[in-house]
Amino acid sequence: MKPGEPQVTTMLSFEQALSEVETRVTAAGITPAIEVVPLGQAWGRVLAEEVKADRDYPPFNRSTRDGFAVRSQDTERANTVLIPDGEVRAGEYFKAEVAPGHCVTIMTGAPLPAGTDAVVMVEYTRSQGNNVEIERPVVSFENVVPKGSEAQAGMPVIPKGRRIRAGEIGLLASVGKENVAVTVRPRVAIIPTGDEVVPIDRQPEWFQVRNSNSAMLATVMTAAGANPWEIGIGPDRKEELQSLIEKALDADMLLLSGGVSMGKYDFVEDVLADLGAEFYFRSVAIRPGKPLVFGRVRGKFFFGLPGNPVSGFVTCNLFARPAIGVLMGSGFERPSFLRARLAKSVHHRTGLTTFMPARIETRDAEPVVSLVGWQGSGDLVGVAEANGFLVVHPEQPSPAAGDWVDVMPMTS
Ligand code: AMP
Ligand code: MG
Repeated sequence: MKPGEPQVTTMLSFEQALSEVETRVTAAGITPAIEVVPLGQAWGRVLAEEVKADRDYPPFNRSTRDGFAVRSQDTERANTVLIPDGEVRAGEYFKAEVAPGHCVTIMTGAPLPAGTDAVVMVEYTRSQGNNVEIERPVVSFENVVPKGSEAQAGMPVIPKGRRIRAGEIGLLASVGKENVAVTVRPRVAIIPTGDEVVPIDRQPEWFQVRNSNSAMLATVMTAAGANPWEIGIGPDRKEELQSLIEKALDADMLLLSGGVSMGKYDFVEDVLADLGAEFYFRSVAIRPGKPLVFGRVRGKFFFGLPGNPVSGFVTCNLFARPAIGVLMGSGFERPSFLRARLAKSVHHRTGLTTFMPARIETRDAEPVVSLVGWQGSGDLVGVAEANGFLVVHPEQPSPAAGDWVDVMPMTS
């Protein structure tokens, strides 16, 4: 099929559409640019370098208890009495070697003195005059984290391409990375369309609506690590839409909202086709969000999201958000479904993958999902009340109260 020609495609299933996005975006072989940022700004970014341990972790045999550092062999006999040589605290080290029959008072986090190989917890000892009676034997390395057991100097500890979360931040700090090489945030243009849509700082006429989609989609993109670029509202007129889309081609990816249904003034696809776009799909068997367009124009991937706020939100999370992972160098990040018990039976029309706004909560130590009251795909009040979605698969019959069902927690 030649580029520029609107292609007729059959409706894809949710899985097929997701795989199509994954395959297309991955195959494009996009190499993100790299920048160095202070550690405090690295959260949510993708690591552009392999990080190695700068030394052994832990760097010494570390006590995990307050007690006495001993030679474990000395404790084999019940109720051994040992001679204390002094103490070692965290942030210090014991300067002498400990001889058989001797021990050293040790604090959590302190290095084991030379000669000793285990720690007896203070709770299992008793004073015998100036000496210490050991009530329980210990084995070698008991209550000790051996030097280098977490990582050895020079060993890779975080691979390139890893999304940086709090755990990675802790490890980066630990190995002394004040500055980190990360991939540059992809710029995502967000173009809302519709003659009835007005900016949020404008009082709408009774027949108009405020542009809620730009702010919401921008938030999803920010949470995904991208840099959203909100472009002015496109009217339902071809020429103006075309110039907005042309401007948006400076971005790395385009999110268009609205104008992709069958209406007389839904021009988004026409304009994209005029610009030479390739269309990979135009419709997905999901609810909400059936009209969903995905393709590439002048080297940039675009999603034509439905204008209905909830449909746009769901499809952006399901398809556009995972693609950001690829643009950032961490790979396609598929939405994850978890399981919860359904609070109340729901009706589901088979043939579509359905995403219903819901609250997922823990009750009696079990995850439970209940639908929020909502009036359909325009209802942001319902969505704001939800913290996730109940997911019902196309071939699945309507689930009943008490069934284990799939849920997708909201991640932004
Ligand atoms: P459309 O997909 O263009 O047919 O729009 C579907 C519905 O979503 C209509 O009721 C629109 O008014 C509404 N809508 C479209 N764009 C936006 C937007 N940016 N903010 C809020 N609602 C919108
Ligand atoms: Mg419209």
